[in-house]
Amino acid sequence: MKTDYDVIMVNLFPSQKSGVKLHHLIKAPENTPWALEKKHSWDASKPATVYVTPELTKEGEPCKAATVILRTKGCHWWWSSGCTFCGYFNDTRDDVTSDDLHNQWDYSMKKLNNFEDVEMIKVYTSGSLLEDREIPLEFQEFVLKETHKLGKHLVIESRTEQLTSDKLSWAKKFNPNFTVAIGLEAYDDEVLRFHVNKGFSLKSWHNAVEQLKNHSLRIKSYLMFKPPFMSEGESLTQCIKWVKSVVNDSDEISINPMNIQRGTIIDRLYRNGDYRPPWLWSLVELIKQVHPFVKQGDKVLSRLIVHPTAAGKPRGAHNCGTCDAEVAAAIERYSVSGTLDEFSDLSCECYSRWKEEIYSDQNLPVPIGVGLNRRNKIEKLFDFY
Ligand code: SF4
Ligand SMILES: [Zn+2]
Repeated sequence: MKTDYDVIMVNLFPSQKSGVKLHHLIKAPENTPWALEKKHSWDASKPATVYVTPELTKEGEPCKAATVILRTKGCHWWWSSGCTFCGYFNDTRDDVTSDDLHNQWDYSMKKLNNFEDVEMIKVYTSGSLLEDREIPLEFQEFVLKETHKLGKHLVIESRTEQLTSDKLSWAKKFNPNFTVAIGLEAYDDEVLRFHVNKGFSLKSWHNAVEQLKNHSLRIKSYLMFKPPFMSEGESLTQCIKWVKSVVNDSDEISINPMNIQRGTIIDRLYRNGDYRPPWLWSLVELIKQVHPFVKQGDKVLSRLIVHPTAAGKPRGAHNCGTCDAEVAAAIERYSVSGTLDEFSDLSCECYSRWKEEIYSDQNLPVPIGVGLNRRNKIEKLFDFY
């Protein structure tokens, strides 16, 4: 049977065939029959999901937040390339109209008691709300206006290139005070390019931050813990550095530990046994190390949120299976309480195994680490012949 590797090999050497880009072999799962079937099965009049979670207001008071994840056309960066871990395309539909988006909004309001019980509304679009190619301008305006009219703090997500002075001035006409969350992922241009395939650089992030500051808007930065092609130990070292680098430019820092979403590049690595999602212990260690930088005495420089999606599951951040629930709960509690006391009673046999792995990763020349999920035999690397 012909594999992807065969095609790559064919094109590494002169042949009659026209060249095939590696990029097209390892991505574009949206064109596979299973992805197309799934895409067209979604009801465009209903949002992808709607829920309420405990949150903190921008002043640090406990509150409730609604999260509305709209079913959209997805992210324009994904249409042409896409980040290595992003499975949002699984939730999109190409033909979503402005009417559909309004129906989704009405559905969400109805489901959440007209947003009466929440102080904050997060409107996520599996892309950027302020990107005209993804979201009709009229609907962008509607969301900005409507949340302001309801007196709820709006949180949106965006890539950097949309956050120009003109666009933000336009948005502020309808809503003078909202938060923009940017998926920076890593404060390192090489990691952005080669591990994440982010499609923007640190320079672009700094420009966006400058514009957000000029417009007095709140900034939330997402950082990725353990991108592809990086060991657990190196991820810990790097992520500590990244938090320190963005702390002065972020009102909130949200660490997203890798979780494996279907049809992505990281999914391929994972299924091939070449990637283990992060240990929960690594997240505890990360929090302990950066805590003094995000909080100095009573002064919170930046709120640190760590939310391990699918914690304890094989595709999410996990430990040995015995201590996962307890450790994940402590991490979740820290995001609200901001105190290291949450971790004082945690212990498990697997802690020493994790520690040894980190030590080896940080001291041995093994670029993608010694993690246990790397279960393939060396011969498997060559089995495409
Ligand atoms: S920019 Fe965001 S939505 Fe777009 S592909 Fe990357 S992670 Fe996904
Ligand atoms: Zn354990």
